[in-house]
Amino acid sequence: MNDFDVIVIGAGASGLMSAIEAGKRGRSVLVLDHNSRIGEKIRISGGGRCNFTNRDSSPGHYLSQNPHFCKSALSRFTSADFLGLLAEHRIKVEERAHGQMFCAGGAKSVVDMLEREARAANVLIRMESPLVDVHRDGAFRVRLSRGTLTAASLVVASGGLSYPKLGATDFARTLAVRFGIGVTDLRPGLVPLILTGTETEAFRNLSGISIASVVRLGRAEFRENVLFTHRGLSGPAILQASSYWKEGQTLEIDLLPGADTRALLLGQQGTRRTLFAVLADHLPRRFVEAWLDKRGGAKMPAALSTSKLERLAEELHHWRLRPDATEGFEKAEVTVGGIDTRELSSQTMESRKVPGLYFAGECVDVTGHLGGYNLQWAWSSGWTAGRYA
Ligand SMILES: Cc1cc2nc3c(=O)[nH]c(=O)nc-3n(C[C@H](O)[C@H](O)[C@H](O)COP(=O)(O)OP(=O)(O)OC[C@H]3O[C@@H](n4cnc5c(N)ncnc54)[C@H](O)[C@@H]3O)c2cc1C
Repeated sequence: MNDFDVIVIGAGASGLMSAIEAGKRGRSVLVLDHNSRIGEKIRISGGGRCNFTNRDSSPGHYLSQNPHFCKSALSRFTSADFLGLLAEHRIKVEERAHGQMFCAGGAKSVVDMLEREARAANVLIRMESPLVDVHRDGAFRVRLSRGTLTAASLVVASGGLSYPKLGATDFARTLAVRFGIGVTDLRPGLVPLILTGTETEAFRNLSGISIASVVRLGRAEFRENVLFTHRGLSGPAILQASSYWKEGQTLEIDLLPGADTRALLLGQQGTRRTLFAVLADHLPRRFVEAWLDKRGGAKMPAALSTSKLERLAEELHHWRLRPDATEGFEKAEVTVGGIDTRELSSQTMESRKVPGLYFAGECVDVTGHLGGYNLQWAWSSGWTAGRYA
């Protein structure tokens, strides 16, 4: 006889969701977590307002070695389902640009709701419970510093490596490897990028300046703001692109998307204006000064040769920068990569090799774009695992 039907590792978004769903099915459920409070990442998400989902949580907003894997869970527990849950608890929501849904009353209301739901489903939650070891001999045996607990099913919802100060560990990856389950390479995603090249020296004092741009990396393209920081680039367009970026790759920034820069610059040939004056009508002055510094200087007349103006016009749409690194897992909102989806059933989130072992949330190789997609994946995959564990 096992101590519990289901043990869930991790009291974050996906772990709590799977525990609630399993509890509602009448399973006896224990959630274990080494943190002292549940849902630490939910609390700080969306700048404290929790961008808990996106109205358009379609699979195209996710990165994975298998882009089809997320479809089943996302279609079975949708953003509308999570909105319904919030409505039942009378939690006020607000919609912002691009379908991003936030909590009007702050992220804590989502955490409190999950706690109430867990209690109603008779889920036991044991915080400050560091795990020593997990092994399986028919049942799963979870060794804690004070004794061992057994369960028929184990749901691993221990998240990725991002924000270690909030309790992130590589537990899921280590456990998977030990059970012979494949894992893809991990890298930080939704993370600021660091620049150190000579041109970028000129941008050091632009920290805080933001430009509405299109950032391209391969086939990925994001039309949002680019923000200059002391160490490089951030802002939504860069964070999105960072999830695709690999060392050595060059980003392309369109500084004036949609504008006819060729006509704009060639139209100045007969004038006495400086290039600075022309561009400063469209871009922040400090940025234009720094950008022109490497291209002939801010005092350069706009009446240049056609070929030179055409080159500059082209560069305004295709400004190429090669980041040196990301700010790492310390500053990353997510981890790209995780448990190889070929190892899991997309219908149940159960391991194909180890019956009774489930993975949910960020520890799986499914990573959302910025905008509520990662929490939606945590709800959807957690819910799915909870239906079967
Ligand atoms: C600053 C920040 C802001 C974000 N904002 C948003 C947002 O607005 N919208 C959005 O969609 N996404 C956002 N995200 C991403 C989102 O929070 C995560 O993708 C999501 O919370 C992942 O849920 P999870 O349950 O898989 O993992 P987590 O929420 O990370 O939960 C994992 C749990 O497992 C526990 N754990 C880990 N290792 C162990 C161990 N060895 N033993 C015991 N317990 C362990 C941890 O303590 C944690 O409680 C943000 C992330 C960050 C860092």
